[in-house]
Amino acid sequence: MKLELADPLIEKAVRLAVTGPEVAVYHHEREELYGIEDPDEREQAFQALHRRWFLASRLEDPFLEALAEVPGVRDGVARWCVSEASRAPEEGAELYVSPDEALSDRERRVLVLRLRPETLVECSRLLWLLRRELLHVADMVDPAFAYQPRLPAAAVGPVYDDLLRTRYAVLWSTTVVGRIERRGQAPEGTRDTARSRFLRAFAMLGDKAEEIFERLFSGERPSHDELVKLAREPRETAGMTQGTGIRCPVCGSPTYLRETGASLEGEVVACLRAERPQWRPEQGLCPRCADLFRVRAGVFARAPLSA
Ligand SMILES: [Zn+2]
Repeated sequence: MKLELADPLIEKAVRLAVTGPEVAVYHHEREELYGIEDPDEREQAFQALHRRWFLASRLEDPFLEALAEVPGVRDGVARWCVSEASRAPEEGAELYVSPDEALSDRERRVLVLRLRPETLVECSRLLWLLRRELLHVADMVDPAFAYQPRLPAAAVGPVYDDLLRTRYAVLWSTTVVGRIERRGQAPEGTRDTARSRFLRAFAMLGDKAEEIFERLFSGERPSHDELVKLAREPRETAGMTQGTGIRCPVCGSPTYLRETGASLEGEVVACLRAERPQWRPEQGLCPRCADLFRVRAGVFARAPLSA
């Protein structure tokens, strides 16, 4: 796989990485290049200088180290382009697949990673980020995972689709960081962070939440479809069926899976009471209504996606 780093990012990272007595050497080498008259030639000389300093400062090493750990990505993706992110939330990887069928699967795939220059000079934080992003990509190119870029749209509407995407991201990330932790490569506290994020996003699982978290974090990696199923119908998938059906007091549809006060977040109960003054927590409601009120109460807006 070809690693292509954008020149402006290389230059900014070098300026951050070069410290101490080397700063004078670097500036001296730079000054000399201003003597080149032809502007294109001068620009190329600057780029070559920064690439040389980039390699000498060992800034490429984390990329090569992380890539060596994921053979599926190394062999299954043709190009890896790294460009600059201006803010921390923009940092991360995306896999682009060309629709050109004349190309092989490998040739069609381009991995684009956006990073801030500051991240490039913090080796351990960079490695942790690369490992998480690359393991997601490794799943995407693994036929056994059977990844689909679009989650099936829910009949309920786009708000509900957002909720599914958030849940799916939490589930996928749980299995990713769990695998990295088992290799002994995750920072301290990773399990606790992953666990609390999972419990926040899957409060409806009640007593079963810990067990499902453990299965994802420490068990075999599920397939994409299994994650989608769990994101869509967490309680059914976790086997939490109830014996007798009721009618949902909110939407009126029949349900075997009532969510009651115990599995509903405080904000959701407050939101329901404000909109439906007659409703009481012990009556419960169907899982779909519970999810819609979770969206309205903003419960999902607070679940950060990356650890
Ligand atoms: Zn309902």
